[in-house]
Parts: sequence; structure tokens; C-alpha cells
Amino acid sequence: MISFDKSYARLPAHFHARLAPTPVASPRLIRVNRALAEELRIDPDWLAGPDGTAMLAGNAVAEGSEPLAAAYAGHQFGNFVPQLGDGRAILLGEVIDRHGRRRDIQLKGSGPTPFSRMGDGRAAMGPVLREYLVSEAMAALGIPTTRALAAVATGERVIRETVLPGAIVTRVASSHIRVGSFQFFAARGDTDALITLADHVIARHYPELEGRDDRARALIEAVAARQAELVARWLLVGFVHGVMNTDNMSVAGETIDYGPCAFLDAYDARTVFSSIDRNGRYAYGQQPRIALWNLTRFAETLLPLLDADEDAAVKQAEAALATFGPRFDAAYRGGLARKLGFSHLGEGDAELAGDLLRTMAENQADHTLTFRRLCAAAESPEGDGPVRDGFVDPTAYDAWAARWRTRLADDPQSPNERATAMRTVNPAFIPRNHRVEEMIAAAIERDDFSPFETMLSVLARPYDDQPEHARYAEAPENGGVGYRTFCGT
Ligand code: AMP
Ligand code: MG
Ligand code: MG
Repeated sequence: MISFDKSYARLPAHFHARLAPTPVASPRLIRVNRALAEELRIDPDWLAGPDGTAMLAGNAVAEGSEPLAAAYAGHQFGNFVPQLGDGRAILLGEVIDRHGRRRDIQLKGSGPTPFSRMGDGRAAMGPVLREYLVSEAMAALGIPTTRALAAVATGERVIRETVLPGAIVTRVASSHIRVGSFQFFAARGDTDALITLADHVIARHYPELEGRDDRARALIEAVAARQAELVARWLLVGFVHGVMNTDNMSVAGETIDYGPCAFLDAYDARTVFSSIDRNGRYAYGQQPRIALWNLTRFAETLLPLLDADEDAAVKQAEAALATFGPRFDAAYRGGLARKLGFSHLGEGDAELAGDLLRTMAENQADHTLTFRRLCAAAESPEGDGPVRDGFVDPTAYDAWAARWRTRLADDPQSPNERATAMRTVNPAFIPRNHRVEEMIAAAIERDDFSPFETMLSVLARPYDDQPEHARYAEAPENGGVGYRTFCGT
């Protein structure tokens, strides 16, 4: 029922380990993403039926699938691990979607693989629901991301700090190739494999570079450009990835690995949610710097492909990496200008935006609510009330808003046009951490998946006011201070 393609499976044998998922005791479908199934040209009724559910649980290998676990390495919190790999994920295969794009279909939580090391190969229900919800929310926000095709409960228990119900999420990605995939071969001095992988990535994600003599250098620049754009988009919606290890950075430029990620409530660039990120390496405001650090590791793997002369190769890599900063700045500053209602980025705008963010941080203002409420304030100064009330010292907002209005007076848009445009970039709804936790608790403790369903439907339209769902737009009591996430669960 699925027409699988297998371009990754056709790569040399040491790129992966072939194995089937491990069957589970009593699979129960939690949800199928019907719209995504249609996009992938998979019959949603089949997927939600017994044969589809058996495939999603790993209890049956669908016809045409050649399941495998991919090999990769990676820097975890700065420390290089020469072999990581899919320790709890199995790639079922690829499909060509309705738009002609190749997409991976992968089970996550589907049992041990040769790359599991000490892990059990499984996933707990909470993180599965979190990944499903947050990745779909990111997609609806318009941010490049892996998607969630389905979630199933396994009927088995997984042992973490406590005993938890198990589940499997089916993840869809442009590919699962990471910076760490390149590092795996670089660490082994396997230049042939690096050439094969680079050509595969170019054919798949950057076909415009195919056949070029300078394609290795161009690939670094192309991946850097997508990451610059991506990380700018994260910052603009207050997203903290939380575990930007090089094995969690996609060379296709999608957000991948929704482990300890979370969204800002009160704005503070130092925010860290992940319980294991003790030094704040992956804090909200560190993300551009870390992206460049990871890209530098990526460029290092390609040095043998750049030039036989090492100094010349390093120079090329440095030049390619130097494009990241300006691209990130352009994407981020341009995005902030749109959030503030400017139809173009003018002189002094970046400073004005920076001053707002600093004032927000000093006044524990909620990131999402401040920008959303600013849309009404842009229509008329009478709209200022709700925004300024979100600042500990509302007069700090007033001082900034006076400068903002002076700037707006120079902008050609009418207040109405401006507010409408601002509402397309300043979401009303993000997956609020306290609501995500409530949703998970309802599912696990009361077998009640209705909050999961409600949140999915609200977050599918993040830029629309949905007054009947106001509780999902509300900030938590204390600005979310002290909220912690956990990965590897
Ligand atoms: P992550 O922190 O999610 O990026 O995972 C890092 C590495 O640990 C990857 O190689 C994963 O496949 C592996 N891993 C994470 N959780 C498990 C688990 N429960 N069982 C086996 N491997 C795991
Ligand atoms: Mg990972
Ligand atoms: Mg993970």
C-alpha cells in the first residue's frame, strides 16, 4: 500500500545496519496524521487500519520496505562520539510525495539496533506526544521541520526514572542525514564514503549544485544558508531546541530531534530548559553561535573534498563558513522588522528591536503575547493597554513605544494593513509548556487524548485568533521560570 523507494538503503553497506523493528505486545493507534498521509500519497484509511497500525508499531514490515538503522557520529555537548547511529529508530524507506519531493518514513521507539549502546531502543508516551505536537506546531508556524505521521501506544512499559507507558512516533523528514553522518566517515578517514554521501545529499537536497566542480564548498555554503534561516526562525518564535548536538543538525535544514525543546514564555535570552544542559551551551540566545560551531564541524569533514592542498582547503572552508553570519543577521533582523510591522528593514531598526527585547527581558514580558498584542497596538495607540500590562514596569514599554511610533510614521503601510501583516508573523498560539505538560498528564494518567487532539487543532492555525481557545494562548503564572525538560526518555 506504500510505494517505497530506497535511495539511502542503496548506499554502501557500512552506511547502515539492516534490521526490522522489534514487534510490540499490544499496539494501539493513538493518531494518524491524515492530511500528511495524503500528502505522502498514503491511504489514510489503510494507515489507520489493522495493516497500517501493524506497520506503525513495527509488528509487520510493509511490502517494499527494507528497514534499516543509519550509522552516524556526533559531538554531544562538545564531546565527539565516533559512533552514535539510530539507536531507537528504523528507517522504513522513502516515498515521493504529491509535490515530487522525497521523504523519509522512520519509526522512532521501535526497538534496539546495533547502535543502541546501553539504551532499550524504546520511547515513552510523553516524549512521543510532545514530539508529535511540537513538530506539527512548528510546521504550522511555517518553520522547516520533520513531521509526525502517526503515534501508537505499544502496550509495553519502558523503564526510566519511573515506569512509563511506551509509544512509537512515525517521523517524516526530507532526510535523516545529519552533520554527524558526515562525521562518522570523516572519523574513519573514509574519503570515498564522504564523496558518496556528499553526492547523495546534493542530489537529494541541493540538486542545483550537481556537477559543479566546486560543489563541496558550495554544499557547505548551502547547508549554512539553510541553518542560518532556520535558527533565525527559531529565535523569532522563541523556540529553544535544547540539544543542538551535531547529530541533531539536519543537512537538509529541518528542525529535528524534539527531545528537550520548549518555547520561551517570559523573554530571556539565557533561557535553558533542558535538565542536562547545565552550562547553558544550548540556551536560547546561544543557538546561532552553536549552529556555526556545528557547521564548522561539518566543513571539517569535507576538507579532503575541497582541495588536495590542506591550506587551500581550509581557506575555502573558512570562506564558506563566513557566509553564515551575514545570512543569519539578514534573516533575523528582517524577521524582527516584520514582527514590529516595518515593511522594510531601515537604519536603526535592529537597535530598536534589540531595545524592545532587552526591555522585555528586564520586565519579564512574555515573548509570544508581547508581539501578538503589539499587532493591536500598531492599529492604534488605544491598543497599548494589553501590551504594556505585560511589563513589570509598564512605563518601560511606553518609552519604547514612543520611539516605535515615530518609526512607524515613516512607514508607508496603513495601520490596518500593518496589523494584518504583523498577525501573519506573530503567532497567537505556540505549544505552551504548561499546556503541553497538562496534555501529557491527561493522556498518561487518564487515558484522555482529547487535550492532545484539541491542542493539535488549535496549533494548526497559530496565526488565527481563536477566542474559544484563549487558555492555550495564556502565559503561565510565573513566566515559566524553572520549567525543565528531559531528553532521552
Ligand atoms: P539524542 O540525544 O536523542 O540525539 O540521541 C543520542 C543518541 O542516543 C542517538 O544515537 C540515539 O539513537 C540514542 N538513543 C537515545 N535514546 C535511546 C534509547 N532509549 N535506546 C537506544 N538508543 C537511544
Ligand atoms: Mg538525536
Ligand atoms: Mg532525541
